[in-house]
Amino acid sequence: MLFKSFNMEVIPVKEMLRQIPPVHEIQRNSDIIAIQERLDLTREKIKHWIQLEIDDVRHLILANKLQITRAGDLEQYIINQVKKKCIEWGEDNLKPAINATGTILHTNLGRARLSEEAIDHVVKVAKHYSNLEYNVTKGHRGSRHQIVEEIIKEVTGAEGALVVNNNAASVYLTLRALAKDHEVIVSRGELVEIGGSFRVSSIMSESDANLVEVGTTNKTHEYDYLNAISEQTAMILKVHTSNFKVVGFTEQIKTKKLASIADQNDLIYYEDLGSGALIDFKDQGVGDEPVVKDVLEAGAHLVSFSGDKLLGGPQVGIIAGKKELIDRLKQHQLARVLRVDKMTLAALETTLKSYAKGTQAALYQIPAVRDILRSASEIKEQVQAFMKKSHLYTMFSFDIRNSYATIGGGTMPEEQIESIGVTVQCEVLSPEKLENRLRNHRTPVIGRFLDEQLFLDFRTLDSSDIEQLHQTFSELNQELKVM
Ligand SMILES: *Cc1c(COP(=O)(O)O)cnc(C)c1O
Repeated sequence: MLFKSFNMEVIPVKEMLRQIPPVHEIQRNSDIIAIQERLDLTREKIKHWIQLEIDDVRHLILANKLQITRAGDLEQYIINQVKKKCIEWGEDNLKPAINATGTILHTNLGRARLSEEAIDHVVKVAKHYSNLEYNVTKGHRGSRHQIVEEIIKEVTGAEGALVVNNNAASVYLTLRALAKDHEVIVSRGELVEIGGSFRVSSIMSESDANLVEVGTTNKTHEYDYLNAISEQTAMILKVHTSNFKVVGFTEQIKTKKLASIADQNDLIYYEDLGSGALIDFKDQGVGDEPVVKDVLEAGAHLVSFSGDKLLGGPQVGIIAGKKELIDRLKQHQLARVLRVDKMTLAALETTLKSYAKGTQAALYQIPAVRDILRSASEIKEQVQAFMKKSHLYTMFSFDIRNSYATIGGGTMPEEQIESIGVTVQCEVLSPEKLENRLRNHRTPVIGRFLDEQLFLDFRTLDSSDIEQLHQTFSELNQELKVM
């Protein structure tokens, strides 16, 4: 009910309908003109929106859902609605958010952030022409495949490599190009679904390769693979079960063994690694993710992995391995369909260069790697610095809490990393309302609940995120104080 008040006469419906102002009158309103100019909107667009709003108002009046007591209220109502529409339209749909969930590779929040160096490279090639498909030495057409192939070879030890749109595309292309109308043997324990949208069995049937499941959910033996090999077999596929763990009485066949079975039977041995660690996180005491280089050294003919999971780069799928197989993949029509953009290649090249340098400083340029490896004491300093200013936000109280962060992105599901953050309580909002308010802020702040209180984990916050957090609390504080 709008503009309804008990002590004033409500204007009858017929009269209200008569009071609906014409479009051109709203269009002449100074507020509307101001916002039209600010957002650089055409007259036609504004006119269209005003028309839509007037239609809405007519329906509301006829349905008895809009009642006014004063002439002029109707016009103001329409103007406000149109202004709101303009502002919403002017805002970006895709916008930065503060990930204070403690999940480092949060798939819903965009997975990995890029390094500053990678971002600079993206901006450069976006702004200028580039040698994307031009061989400047020879002065003729080149290939975009060459841009990152050498550096992938350098950091993985592979003979050849190819980059596609994402790792789901890697799996699809590899199966389609190398196993179409043939059988592919996979252990039952590895028929995973990832993120609710990537299912090995579905990708397999899309690619027209025939899935041959072997073993059981918890155990697959060498003889299971051997018994399944037939005239029709083209490939053995091992899928890294990255988002769940079967613990206890389990058995999986090691890469070396499967590679030798494949070699002896003239088959392709392909491992879908999912995350694709380029450094050994185990050495740093985190998880037991296989390292790409080790898997290739152990004999895998092909591996594939995502660019925006542990690797910490842009969304891509990287396929690496034997040159002869990579060449066949490059020549397939689908490689053209699944090719990546120049900005993606720029981000990937620079991210991989940080790995090629290999120093701690270079690796810490990559936010995902830094956020996984940085020490709890470093995070504690950030939290303490935040707390020093937190008394300014008088409507809130904060407490330092130890907690655990997780890697996310379906990677190392068991792994808990020590972390630190703050619980936030608000004078006038329940924890649920506070969570909602922060989530709906201009720059959304996404936290999680810990013991029924809103908790903000600082492991994934950099200094600009913390600056933004101060800004957000300062704004919210003002808003809540005047309420
Ligand atoms: C994440 C994942 C994929 C899908 O990779 P995207 O880059 O998200 O397309 C495929 N296989 C495994 C094992 C994964 O973990």
